[in-house]
Amino acid sequence: MKAAVYDGKELSIKIVSEPKITDSQVLVHIKAVGICGTDLAIVKGSLPTPLPIILGHEFTGEVVAIGNNVEQSWLNKRITSEINSGIDFKCYYCKRGLYTQCLSRKAIGIDIDGALAEYIALESYLLHEIPNSISYDDATFIEPLAAAYQTFEMMPIDKNDQVMAIFGLGKLGLLITQVALSKGLKLIVIDGSDKKLDLAEKYGAQHVINRLNCRDIPLEIKNLTKGLGADIVVDATGNPNALIDITTSCKTRGKIHVKSTHGIETLINLTDIVVREITIYSSRCGPFVKAIEGLESGKISVKELISEKFKLDDIKKAFEFPKSNHDHIKTIIQI
Ligand SMILES: [Zn+2]
Repeated sequence: MKAAVYDGKELSIKIVSEPKITDSQVLVHIKAVGICGTDLAIVKGSLPTPLPIILGHEFTGEVVAIGNNVEQSWLNKRITSEINSGIDFKCYYCKRGLYTQCLSRKAIGIDIDGALAEYIALESYLLHEIPNSISYDDATFIEPLAAAYQTFEMMPIDKNDQVMAIFGLGKLGLLITQVALSKGLKLIVIDGSDKKLDLAEKYGAQHVINRLNCRDIPLEIKNLTKGLGADIVVDATGNPNALIDITTSCKTRGKIHVKSTHGIETLINLTDIVVREITIYSSRCGPFVKAIEGLESGKISVKELISEKFKLDDIKKAFEFPKSNHDHIKTIIQI
């Protein structure tokens, strides 16, 4: 079968053998894969992985074969998949139901081969059925949308939390924008793309700041919040240098939520955080069930987040595309 393989030097289409399934696995014919900042970071060399590796962890497909121990009903189902495979169901975290932090977990497309291929073998416990009302392309957003919901699973919101500032309107920032609005928060969003700022405004964000036209973002945020700063500040920038402004923009006793995986060490003013008693939260993989509900109910909209679609054969072009497009949000690969 064809697969997009990164060998440490370049990403290219290779012919590799089709995966064989075990008794506990299903064989999935991949339909669509979303390209994520993590994939770009791997190809840039800033996130080490075993090599060679098939990339791709935001994906959808159809179950075309099942192992002997898998429930028959999975056959021919339209599915998406959680990314943490290799779960042992017995470690400290698994015993507490925290499977995404299992000590033996292996992330699909990051620690083990992923979905930028014609087929993938998956443990059946990873599967989630996609309702017929959600297209394969749109359903590639279930994994990142689950991560957006996880922001609020990890960080309790109380009556003092009214204004959230979101730095960075990539796919994740725009998904968090929609989830935050559904929770009644008022939003200030910050990005360098007017197109993305317009989209956030269309969703309902109250204030937009184009960072390219603003000399002092924390001051601007304080001006919008009676001089206090935002109650919650989310980092979805992927830019470690943003954390200084993010901290300064947070009110005393406020909350910072880090969503970006910067991949490198980051400078942050801890003294300011200690003196002003700011709490730092972080989160990653989240509840797929909530994400599917969000899409199915129409509460969350993703069609406008798809910037471009490519075929698997054009994978190199697909990875170049975000670099040359300032307004780029999401590339989908159709298999
Ligand atoms: Zn475990």
